Amino acid sequence: MRDFDYKKKFGQNFLTDETLLTQIAENALISKDSVVVEIGAGKGALTEILSKFAKRVISFEIDKDLFGYLETKFMGSNVEFIFEDIMNFPDEKLNKIVSGDFLLVANLPYYITSPIITRFLKNSNMKSLTVMVQEEVADRIVAVPKSKEYGVLSIICQIFGVPKKVMRVSREMFYPIPNVDSAVIHIERKERYKISDYELFINFIKKCFSMRRKKLSANLESNIMNKNEIEKLLIQKGFSPMVRAEELSIDDFKLLFELFYDKLK
Ligand code: SAM
Repeated sequence: MRDFDYKKKFGQNFLTDETLLTQIAENALISKDSVVVEIGAGKGALTEILSKFAKRVISFEIDKDLFGYLETKFMGSNVEFIFEDIMNFPDEKLNKIVSGDFLLVANLPYYITSPIITRFLKNSNMKSLTVMVQEEVADRIVAVPKSKEYGVLSIICQIFGVPKKVMRVSREMFYPIPNVDSAVIHIERKERYKISDYELFINFIKKCFSMRRKKLSANLESNIMNKNEIEKLLIQKGFSPMVRAEELSIDDFKLLFELFYDKLK
């Protein structure tokens, strides 16, 4: 693998430091009964540590150039590779392969971080997610209302889980060295509320933040609801008509989603 052609388009920034890789696995709280799903095996550095902690590891890799190397390295082990794009791999198929609960652990390719987190948090077979992300994304995940990092990703991660930023990781730990530092995030999946329609909820949150500096009533205005109606409803529920999405807590969003539910469908 010495002359491996690193592919930027796949977010290939690999890790080698065994202490760091072990810390990631430890933060994932893997037991000998755990099934771990990994996204992006790369040269298998994290995969190898995960295989020591878990009963079974199912690892996705999009880059077929890694096929021969990985299959040889892990022959006869508890690791199964799936050489496919995780973005085109349906949840139902994955749940069938895992057949039970699983933990998601990964040094995620940066270009699909948010879609992966958003998607897996709705999979009730996934018990927790321990992933390396760009530090700026980690800060958005754990952000609190009224901060500049608070937004759609914070709300999704905090309504469907309990996120913690467990450690910062210098860019120097990766090869090739990326332009930014990273951090490891651990999210225990725990639905704070039962959300009846996940996609509708996410669209609602996105709408609320569509123009950050604008009032919520302006962002929610549509051909079904005008600004005045929205402001009236907000006042009835004890909110200021001037309120902006960035000022609202997770509980507020849940309440507002129910309030506007019929008008969103
Ligand atoms: N786990 C390895 C490590 O820590 O050294 C590699 C991590 S690297 C940041 C991300 C890996 O994800 C790359 O090997 C890349 O080829 C793979 N990858 C990128 N997009 C993918 C996708 N859509 N589906 C599956 N794997 C993907």
